Amino acid sequence: LAERLQGTIQKLKGKGKVSEQDVKEMMREVRFALIEADVNLKVVKEFVKNVSERAIGSEVMKSLTPGQQVIKIVQDELTNLMGGEQSPIKFSTKSPTVIMMVGLQGAGKTTTTGKLANVLRKKYNRKPLLVAADIYRPAAVQQLQTLGKQLSLPVFSLGTDISPVEIARKAIEHAKEEHHDVVIIDTAGRLHIDEELMQELKDIRALKEPDEVFLVVDAMTGQDAVNVAQSFNETVGITGVVLTKLDGDTRGGAALSIRSVTQKPIKFVGMGEKMDALETFHPERMAQRILGMGDVLSLIEKAQANVDMEKAKELEQKFMTQTFTFDDFVEQLQALKKMGPLDDILKMIPGVNKMKGLDNVKVDEKQMGRLEAIIYSMTPAEKTNPEIINGNRKKRIAKGSGTTIQDVNRLLKQFEEMKKMMKQMTGMTQGKGKGKKKM
Ligand code: GDP
Ligand code: MG
Repeated sequence: LAERLQGTIQKLKGKGKVSEQDVKEMMREVRFALIEADVNLKVVKEFVKNVSERAIGSEVMKSLTPGQQVIKIVQDELTNLMGGEQSPIKFSTKSPTVIMMVGLQGAGKTTTTGKLANVLRKKYNRKPLLVAADIYRPAAVQQLQTLGKQLSLPVFSLGTDISPVEIARKAIEHAKEEHHDVVIIDTAGRLHIDEELMQELKDIRALKEPDEVFLVVDAMTGQDAVNVAQSFNETVGITGVVLTKLDGDTRGGAALSIRSVTQKPIKFVGMGEKMDALETFHPERMAQRILGMGDVLSLIEKAQANVDMEKAKELEQKFMTQTFTFDDFVEQLQALKKMGPLDDILKMIPGVNKMKGLDNVKVDEKQMGRLEAIIYSMTPAEKTNPEIINGNRKKRIAKGSGTTIQDVNRLLKQFEEMKKMMKQMTGMTQGKGKGKKKM
């Protein structure tokens, strides 16, 4: 989906004038791209109608940058389609908060139960209790226990002879005694939706109205995921959706359709099998990602998890105001090292994902030490104002860092590129109108 839309957008971007015909043509391609991405037909129709109405409106046509305006409208409407705002977890005022995980077999319920508990502990400072209520497969109980061990989190289990409703009831009691403030119930799934399963889920629900009922669906199943969401919502009732395996989904159809079909928000997305691969779902960021603007905010969030919060905020500010210096650069290099494989990180930066060789911005891990040495050889004034670095200064810096003038030149150039990219990024995020929300 992303690729197709990006092509269309490239065409529009440079246009100084956009005719009604251009918009119509673009909408035809957008429509096609969405259908190809397995987006629900009704949703596609509605979307195309909304965008066309706004785009053909007179302000857009008269504005100085109509191409950009149309893109912004597409992005806005994609964001709206996915719910507009990020939807937070609803916690109970009376402990414990009960979260029930439901969904078909293999969707990722058990895995997500572990991941969610991990998020709740790390990000929300909660003390979760995991509950093994899938009694139909002994392996399921074990699977959750293994995850619990891995995360050093307690798992409540009563084996497979007691009914799930009873397990859930006892687990909630146990949580109260042991002062767990969140209970996450991992329930059984079936291959298909059936009466018995739905009844069981309803019975658990009836026990103590859960604060959240999260439907876990596999993004790779596209339209099926949407249908599953619709039937679970109608029969059991859900409060939110976790879309798993988004790391393997290139089409994005489910992400785009679920909200408008069920009216229930996507709260989290699964991005891999590991226990830290659960991300908060941000409609706006997803829309940007789909349109190929990279995912700057997620990148910043990733940095926050690894660097300290204050620093990340500062950095974001610097990104926005373009007062990024070599001191920040060196700090970033160090943070990058902690963040994991550079290729992954680079992919999140706007534009970079489309560059073939990544040459201009590539920060070779082996080279990092050298870059740092060069920066450390600069004076504070040089670090803040690299423009003052003339031939003599370059010579001194090269000598001081044990590198060559070419190395120094290369770094200066890289730094310039980075700043240029930031400028572009800032231009884009500022154009968003509704204001950027940080969590
Ligand atoms: P359940 O039957 O709904 O409990 O599903 P499981 O939690 O057992 O998950 C089924 C399979 O999907 C397992 O192999 C998981 O590792 C895998 N899985 C779950 N979530 C994700 C995800 O976000 N990305 C990827 N790539 N795999 C996932
Ligand atoms: Mg399971």
